[in-house]
Amino acid sequence: MSDDHLRPDPTIPNLPAADEPFSFAPVGSEPTRAGFVAIVGKPNVGKSTLINTLLGVKVSPITSKPQTSRRGVRGIYSSEHRQIVFVDTPGLHRGGDALDKAMTQEVREAVVDVETILWVVDLRRPPGDEDKDVARFLNGLGPDARIWIVGNKIDVAKYPDEALSLYRDLYPKREREIVLSALEDPKAVYALREDLLALLPLNPWFFPGDASSDQTREQWAAEIVREATMVHLRQELPYAVAVQTTDWRDPRPGKDEPLVISAEIWVEKMGHRPIVLGKGGKMIREIGKTARKQLEVFLNTKIYLELDVVVRRDWREDREALRELGFQV
Ligand code: GDP
Ligand code: MG
Repeated sequence: MSDDHLRPDPTIPNLPAADEPFSFAPVGSEPTRAGFVAIVGKPNVGKSTLINTLLGVKVSPITSKPQTSRRGVRGIYSSEHRQIVFVDTPGLHRGGDALDKAMTQEVREAVVDVETILWVVDLRRPPGDEDKDVARFLNGLGPDARIWIVGNKIDVAKYPDEALSLYRDLYPKREREIVLSALEDPKAVYALREDLLALLPLNPWFFPGDASSDQTREQWAAEIVREATMVHLRQELPYAVAVQTTDWRDPRPGKDEPLVISAEIWVEKMGHRPIVLGKGGKMIREIGKTARKQLEVFLNTKIYLELDVVVRRDWREDREALRELGFQV
């Protein structure tokens, strides 16, 4: 008998489904296969979008502002007897502060022992300095690295062939080239996923079949709040905003209460606080509204979201603070 009906549709968010039990184990009698796939590329090329489409679940933050994925968020895709663990990476970049060092270290760690590395590039533009940095990083990996160039944003690229050939010149050893739109063409992304699934080695699964991410729910909620903050503040703040979930209170059984989530938005300077709060608290209310809507859609429950703006001077240099945010420093 087929267990097919027990498996969640991978295109439907599979975060907490209130009452429906899923099948968590590999399906079928074939030996299990599993492996890691890393996604690298400079900021804003569409890495998070690609990973979200690959998974059919929103697991990493997406905004139109660069530098929004800080943590190496993993997404997990399980199908029949195969499992891919996707590793999203923060952008590689050149600054010298503790945050930059922690991030570069995370990228290195993210690509150790992966089956395939997807180098995502933006086909609207020829390679820039940051792409060259990524290429240098890839060229420094061992000869066993299997690297595919993923040319993204084909939907809006004017000279995709020319751009792709310039990226290829930076990394001629690439094993494959795929051209797609992570945003507009999910079918192409699913085809890429099939190719990745086909290459997985024999391995036990790394995570239970129902896991879509190894983030805690608190980290996940914090990323949603941070994304909303970035969306609303756009150019008004530098990128040094962090969010930490400080409390998560489920409704008491049998009571008609909202789920209460409390979070702190960390800013570096006293002067940033009024910007995040806005006139008469207007900005923070907008941020809260956007984040709450997202959380409610994904958690499928009524939510009361409590936000605080906290000045944590120099948290980017503060190892303790970075550790609290989940970095390994
Ligand atoms: P990351 O910094 O590499 O993770 O990039 P994001 O996934 O956050 O995407 C940056 C921006 O590019 C967002 O505004 C996305 O909506 C947009 N984007 C991503 N993929 C595509 C695509 O295939 N086509 C178009 N037109 N926009 C895209
Ligand atoms: Mg990202």
